[in-house]
Amino acid sequence: MIFVVVLLFGLIIGSFLNVCIARLPREQSIVSPPSQCPRCKTPIKWYDNVPLVSFFALRGKCRTCGLPISWRYPLVELLNGLLYLWACVAFGPSGEAGMVMVLCSALLVITFIDLDYQIIPDVITLPGMVIGLLAAPLFMSALEPPMAFGLGRLLPSVGSYLTGFVNSLVGLLLGAAPLFIIGWLWEKLRKVEAMGGGDVKYMGMVGSFLGWKGAFLTIMLGALTGSLAGVALIALKKHQADRVIPFGPYLAFGTLLTLFHGPDIIDWYFGFLRL
Ligand SMILES: [Zn+2]
Repeated sequence: MIFVVVLLFGLIIGSFLNVCIARLPREQSIVSPPSQCPRCKTPIKWYDNVPLVSFFALRGKCRTCGLPISWRYPLVELLNGLLYLWACVAFGPSGEAGMVMVLCSALLVITFIDLDYQIIPDVITLPGMVIGLLAAPLFMSALEPPMAFGLGRLLPSVGSYLTGFVNSLVGLLLGAAPLFIIGWLWEKLRKVEAMGGGDVKYMGMVGSFLGWKGAFLTIMLGALTGSLAGVALIALKKHQADRVIPFGPYLAFGTLLTLFHGPDIIDWYFGFLRL
């Protein structure tokens, strides 16, 4: 039962994420005006705005103008629903699952905006850092020592909260540092901007949620998948080697792997090195 509720909740939030993806890069309000068809500007009735269902009921076409609706809308809704479900299965109905959901939604929005505009908006990463710094120490087991959330344990756990907060802050700074340094060096050597500041802030946000180990793992996994995909795209001649590939989607993929399998990968890696 709870899984059905979580899935539906994820789909509804996914529908809102579509609004964020469409409007945040244009600096439009995400609250008003209500959703409208991007082509004919007709306001969308509530029954045509039901996540997933309406897209298929309308056979992917606007009811008024009949022009196709992007498949991306149901895709974002479905992905967000499935990620929420996954979070609930992996972490149980807990504060940690809630934090994972917040991060998953943030990285979905960031992925699609970065694909379209090659930017990672501050309006997501900066509040994300604040949420990470303040809430991650309460809920995220990656920021040891974890603190079971309960009113009874809140007061005696102030020391534990502060430790978690410091871990979160260290995660933010160390998470942002590698890309910041690479970007800075690149700029000095080549006199061009290499790494957008958005990537640096994105990694700061991830570090504030997952600590420095999680942030480093995210960068390594992101760089690995990014280079594999880059080589594949160049081999398939779909991409010129000198064109900029947005790094955000790969970092987001690395974040997902780290969120759900980070401890396993870290254990495997250090076991492999016999450390
Ligand atoms: Zn229309």
